[in-house]
Amino acid sequence: MNSERVQASVNLAAIERNCATLRSHLREGVSLCAVVKADGYGHGAVPSARAALAGGARWLAVVSSAEARELRDAGLREPPVLVMGALTAAELSEALAARADVVVWRERHVREVAAAGGGRVHVKLDSGMGRLGTSDAEEAARTAELASRTAGIELVGAMTHFATADEADDGGFFEAQLDAFARWAHEIKERQPQLVAHAANSAAVLRDARSHFDLVRCGIAVYGMDPFGEDAAAQGLEPALELVSYVAEVKRLRTGDSAGYGRRFVAQADAHLGVIPIGYGDGWRRGLSNNADVLITGRRYPLVGTVSMDNITVLLGAEQEAKSLRGEPAVLIGEQARERISAEEVARRLDTINYEVTCALTPRVPRAYHRDGARLAGPASSGADEPAAAAGAERG
Ligand SMILES: *Cc1c(COP(=O)(O)O)cnc(C)c1O
Repeated sequence: MNSERVQASVNLAAIERNCATLRSHLREGVSLCAVVKADGYGHGAVPSARAALAGGARWLAVVSSAEARELRDAGLREPPVLVMGALTAAELSEALAARADVVVWRERHVREVAAAGGGRVHVKLDSGMGRLGTSDAEEAARTAELASRTAGIELVGAMTHFATADEADDGGFFEAQLDAFARWAHEIKERQPQLVAHAANSAAVLRDARSHFDLVRCGIAVYGMDPFGEDAAAQGLEPALELVSYVAEVKRLRTGDSAGYGRRFVAQADAHLGVIPIGYGDGWRRGLSNNADVLITGRRYPLVGTVSMDNITVLLGAEQEAKSLRGEPAVLIGEQARERISAEEVARRLDTINYEVTCALTPRVPRAYHRDGARLAGPASSGADEPAAAAGAERG
């Protein structure tokens, strides 16, 4: 019997090993930056960051200033933290106060950072993503030049971001972005050889070693999900997160009885129905209505009817034994007796990407941390600045 109605169990040892696997793709001297934005893609930013550092990541990246502050407040004082997102004036101040690196692309940004007290900056070229950064390579070079001679500013990095690294059939767009960035980075590194050039996300790291430059920024693969939406195991990656609930009730349905809002499931024959207390209020999305499987005692059972805010129903079959499933764990993402439901499978059913599946988990779902099954004492998200590996005591 579970101790919680729903729980996301995160294996920090898997995050460590995924980082080691990613590093094995990098040539000597290239660093791994673990992207822990959006609460570590739903896995918990601070425990994930600690595990990634234990696995050999040297940098951390987030999107908002509050995310940077959370890492520093948790005691992660040493590693460089890059804030990749757009920042309001107030957020810029918060990011700099957290000693985070920020991204600039206009000369005005450099002056704003200097006026806010100074700090470390990365200049961003928009080589084709069409979002943040400037697509004018000369403007980007001028911004870098200004940053390099402005008091209080440390010019640290030169970066870009790929739009199609995960799409094999992108008509050469990835290579075009790569070439444009390589040319620009080469030019400014001639003047600023200490600059850290970085471009690759997880997909780019696995796709093309020419994209690695000095640093790679990996998110999805750190958590053991496949950046291409296919088979993570084929990339040597281990999913870190399992989502588990339990069978809270088993009831008998007669032919014609229905379950859930809108009666979107009507029993065609006598059957047993399991009620599992997870719903879209937990991030188990309504698009999974009549469109998912759940593992109970190592077998797949179909989710039937509408996903409501707090509950789902699964069809357990007609046999009397179905009654004995009351209280059994119900795995929504994860493995049971070698049967597996991956975030990639759930994403395909929802016509979305694995990123959105784990990011969707709401704060109502408690995150529990373990290392290959050994539960970690206390919240791994607080406390002193130790690597996750040092905090492996069992709670009993
Ligand atoms: C989120 C993000 C990444 C990480 O991407 P993954 O596909 O999760 O590896 C890297 N760089 C930037 C700018 C990002 O926003």
